[in-house]
Amino acid sequence: MMNLAAALQRNAQCKPNKVALICGDTQFTYAQFDHISSQVAGALLAIGIQPGDRVALSCPNLPFFPFIYYGIQKVGGVVVPLNVLFKEREIKYHLKDSEAKFFFCFEGTSELPMAEAGIAAFRQVEQCEHMAVITRDPQQFSFGGMPTLSALIHNATPVKDYAERQADDTAVILYTSGTTGQPKGAMLTQSNMMSNAMVAGNLMAGNGNDVHLAVLPLFHSFGQTVHMNTAVLSGATLLLIPRFEPLHVLSQIEKYHASIFAGVPTMYIGMLHTTSACGSEQDYDLSSLRLAISGGAPLPAEVIKSFESQFKIPILEGYGLSETSPVACFHHLDVERVPGSVGQPVQGVEICIVDDQGMPVETGKDGEVTIRGHNVMKGYLNRPEETASVLKGSWLHTGDIGRFDEAGNLYVIDRIKDMIIRSGFNVYPREIEDVFMTHPDVAMAAVVGIPDDIYGEEIKAFIVLREGDADKVLADEISLLEWGKSQLASYKYPRYIEICKQLPMNATGKVLKKDLKADLGRYER
Ligand code: ATP
Repeated sequence: MMNLAAALQRNAQCKPNKVALICGDTQFTYAQFDHISSQVAGALLAIGIQPGDRVALSCPNLPFFPFIYYGIQKVGGVVVPLNVLFKEREIKYHLKDSEAKFFFCFEGTSELPMAEAGIAAFRQVEQCEHMAVITRDPQQFSFGGMPTLSALIHNATPVKDYAERQADDTAVILYTSGTTGQPKGAMLTQSNMMSNAMVAGNLMAGNGNDVHLAVLPLFHSFGQTVHMNTAVLSGATLLLIPRFEPLHVLSQIEKYHASIFAGVPTMYIGMLHTTSACGSEQDYDLSSLRLAISGGAPLPAEVIKSFESQFKIPILEGYGLSETSPVACFHHLDVERVPGSVGQPVQGVEICIVDDQGMPVETGKDGEVTIRGHNVMKGYLNRPEETASVLKGSWLHTGDIGRFDEAGNLYVIDRIKDMIIRSGFNVYPREIEDVFMTHPDVAMAAVVGIPDDIYGEEIKAFIVLREGDADKVLADEISLLEWGKSQLASYKYPRYIEICKQLPMNATGKVLKKDLKADLGRYER
């Protein structure tokens, strides 16, 4: 019998008064967290939600997210977390595709009216029978003609125990963000989610005294496993921050003595730039922080160097995918970290680099990263063909190009789909991006291939410049082009450079290269 909710119930029994959740000035103990999630479960049960039914949840990092997530687990339902930035069309797609029976949607803000988009989408999806709007005001019982979460749990009888689930039962359906195609629902089992949170917890030497600062969105696998589920498994405190704002994050670390922070590379870049622009890193006492973790996208070596020298905290990098719950590889605390590598496969997980025939390559050679172990998904929901194309035997084909060194460290080189073939030469955008990140004026770089009549593909770099001092002249497109030429072999340096104010990114800070390619020049210069 396995249910993610077991750990929550255990904490509520063993340490009921321990603070489980902090958000702004509000705190909830494990007893309160457990009780509210049992109320949610009671309400779902009363409405007829059965084990295996899917329940969609669109909510930023607020205590409602874990309340509902664990409430759904308690009735044996399957959580379908949705990206909070989705518009009506995208919500409709995900409700339909996941065949959700129930939809919880946060009310949103005036800039992001989540519930309006959610209600409009819900009304168009017949099989989704119920919806509740999550409102900040606990006294509000209806919103836009829909019941609120408060209305739902008002008269609910809290469930006493959680539903029995098997290791192979789906616990969560995580949608890939669609940076490489239509979003697909990765079915992650109770065993996938539980083992991955345990493994991540062990790697971080996580314990009940930790305070996890969760600003990574909980709807994504990274924040969900590495922060929320790991914190609940170890009975630690989860400090929830709905929106990333570098100075606010630093002040919250100090105020609540956060000990673990996980972020995507853009967050580290943001923290570095904001603090160096206003010289404020000295103003915060970050001594409680013992670990910073990066994942989800490549972390430029230059960023590791600057962050560690500025904040004196080691960054451990991990690698994984939604399809692997997500952690597959991690820097181990007791093994010397090799910059540029994403560490070694985690316990119970094997990684093999294969050629295009699926045969293992020699150590040191590039090939596709394939993964097997307790973290690999069951498959994509209702997509047997797409499942078969990535799950071969028990091996998940990631679509990433990687290489192992002799010491067993993995290097993720790029995505197969992002690789540029210029005049027959394979060019990895990540290498060029890393080179541009060492330029003193460059804050961010994204490199894509664009069609070219002569070379097949030509290389184009989109560059975001650092905010300079008013009297400092920053690089321009011509000087960057010349600079690239001086650093990279002639088949690799970008012939096109475009300076832009920002790059299109998804909610987890990943550059949407598909958009850059499709819509060249659209980004504000
Ligand atoms: P989609 O699969 O639809 O494109 P996505 O890219 O957002 O969506 P995720 O599961 O969030 O899907 O991301 C997984 C990918 O992120 C990996 O396949 C890899 O390319 C990249 N990635 C994750 N961690 C790292 C890392 N440490 N270094 C380099 N790349 C990474």
